[in-house]
Amino acid sequence: MSDDPIDRSGLRPRFWETTPLARMTRHEWEALCDGCGKCCLNKLEDEDTGEVALTRVACRLFDDSTCRCAQYEIRHQFVPECISLDAGNLEGHLYWMPETCAYKLLHQGKPLFDWHPLISGDPESVHAAGVSVRDATIPEFEVDEDHWEDHQIEEPGV
Ligand code: SF4
Ligand code: SF4
Repeated sequence: MSDDPIDRSGLRPRFWETTPLARMTRHEWEALCDGCGKCCLNKLEDEDTGEVALTRVACRLFDDSTCRCAQYEIRHQFVPECISLDAGNLEGHLYWMPETCAYKLLHQGKPLFDWHPLISGDPESVHAAGVSVRDATIPEFEVDEDHWEDHQIEEPGV
C-alpha cells in the first residue's frame, strides 16, 4: 500500500456508518476526503439555468501529480475563496460538488464506494478506479478565464 497523504490512522472502524457528519471529529471529517481532486477544478455556472459545468482547469494551488492541494493548511492565504466545507454549509454546496464526493454521498444517505481509501485501505484505489483527476488537469494560470469553456469535461468516474 502506498503512503496516504491524508491521515487516516487510528480512526474508529467504519465511523462514517455510525456517526452523522455533524458529529464527526475534524480528524474523521478530513479522513472522509477520497482525494479525487475534483472539487479543485474550476467550474462554469450558467447564470440563467444554474447548471454547473466542470472544466479540467485546476485551481492554482492544485498539484496535478499528487492530486492534492499544494498548501492545504495555509491555502486561504493564497486562495481566500477556497471553501472550507463543514456539516453546516454542506447543503448549500451540493449543487456543484462532484457526484462521487464522500461528503455528498453521506449527506444523501448513500454508502461510500469500494474504491474509497477508507474502504480499500489504499489511497491509490481512487486513481485506479478512474475517479480522480490526477495527471488530467491544466493549471489555471495557463488558460485565460475566457477560454475555460473550451476545456469542459464530464465528471470522471460517473
Ligand atoms: S470532491 Fe470531495 S472527496 Fe473529492 S477531493 Fe473534493 S472534498 Fe475530497
Ligand atoms: S486552494 Fe487548494 S483545496 Fe482550495 S481549490 Fe485550490 S487546490 Fe483545492
